[in-house]
Amino acid sequence: MSESDYLVKGITKNGSFRAIAVSTKNLTEEARQRHNLSHTSAVALGRSMACAILLCYTLRKTKGHLTLKIKGEGPIGNIIVDVSSEGTVRGYVDHPEIECFDQKGYVDIDKAVGKTGYVHVSYDNEKGIPYKSSVEIVSGEIAKDVVNYLATSEQIASFLSCGVYLEPASGKVLHAGGILIQTMPNASDDDIKKTEETVTKLDPFSILLRSGLNLEQILKKSLSDHDTEILSEFEGLCFYCGCSRNKFESALISLGRTEIKKIITSVGYAEGRCNFCSNVYMFKKEELEDLIKKRKD
Ligand SMILES: [Zn+2]
Repeated sequence: MSESDYLVKGITKNGSFRAIAVSTKNLTEEARQRHNLSHTSAVALGRSMACAILLCYTLRKTKGHLTLKIKGEGPIGNIIVDVSSEGTVRGYVDHPEIECFDQKGYVDIDKAVGKTGYVHVSYDNEKGIPYKSSVEIVSGEIAKDVVNYLATSEQIASFLSCGVYLEPASGKVLHAGGILIQTMPNASDDDIKKTEETVTKLDPFSILLRSGLNLEQILKKSLSDHDTEILSEFEGLCFYCGCSRNKFESALISLGRTEIKKIITSVGYAEGRCNFCSNVYMFKKEELEDLIKKRKD
C-alpha cells in the first residue's frame, strides 16, 4: 500500500513543546524521478523538502508560500524548495548528477552542500512585500542549518531531525520525512533538559520510519517525557508545480517580435525547461510565427 504524504501536529499538555512531523516519501520520489537525482542529490533535496514543509507550517500565519534556498559552496550548487500553505511542494538542485560519499560509503551531504554559504528563507503571502531572512550555513547537513536559522532569525528554539532512506541499488526513495519540536516560552529549564536528552537519544528519523513507526508514534516517542496530544493531521502534501505551456508562451511573447524572429532564424524552435519540475515546453517554428502575430508591436 502506498500511503500518501502527510503531516501531524501535536502539543504537550503542559504547553511546553509543540511538534510537527511529516512523511514525504512520495513527493521526494517524484522529485527524484523528475530531476533524475543521484543518491546524494535525492537525500539533499529530500531533507530540504522536509525542512521547508516544517518551516512553512511552523512560521506561516497566513495563506502563501515559503521558499527555502540553501546556497552552499559545495558541488551540488543551490538547493531550492517552494512550499505552499495548501501543501504543494516543488524543488530542485543545481547539479542533480553529483555524488559525494564518505569513507564508509554513505552519502556525504555536508560535503555536497558545503560548510559555508547561506540559508535564505522567504515567505510570500501574495499581498505585500515578501518577508525575507538569511543566515550563514553552519554545518551543510541541512537540518542543523535550519535549526540555526530558526534560533538566529526567528528566535525559535527547536530540535529538528529529518532523513531520507534510499533503496541502495536503485536509489528509489523508501522512507523520507522529518520532525520539528519547538520549545515554547513557558518551558522550564528542567523540561528542556529532559526533552533534549530524549530526542538526542532517538534514532535518526529515517531509521524510525524504517522500523515501522508512523508519525503519531514518532511524535509521541520524541516527547515521551510528557503527556502529548495530537492536534491535527493533514494528508494533502504532494509534489506540484504551477508552470504551464501558457506561462511559457506568455514569456516568449513578452520577448517581442524582433527577439522571436531571431530565435526562428537562428535556432528554428524554442524549448523551455522548468527548473522546479523539469517539464519541457516546446514551440516549433510555425508556433513561434503564430506568437509574432499575437504581438501588437
Ligand atoms: Zn514546473
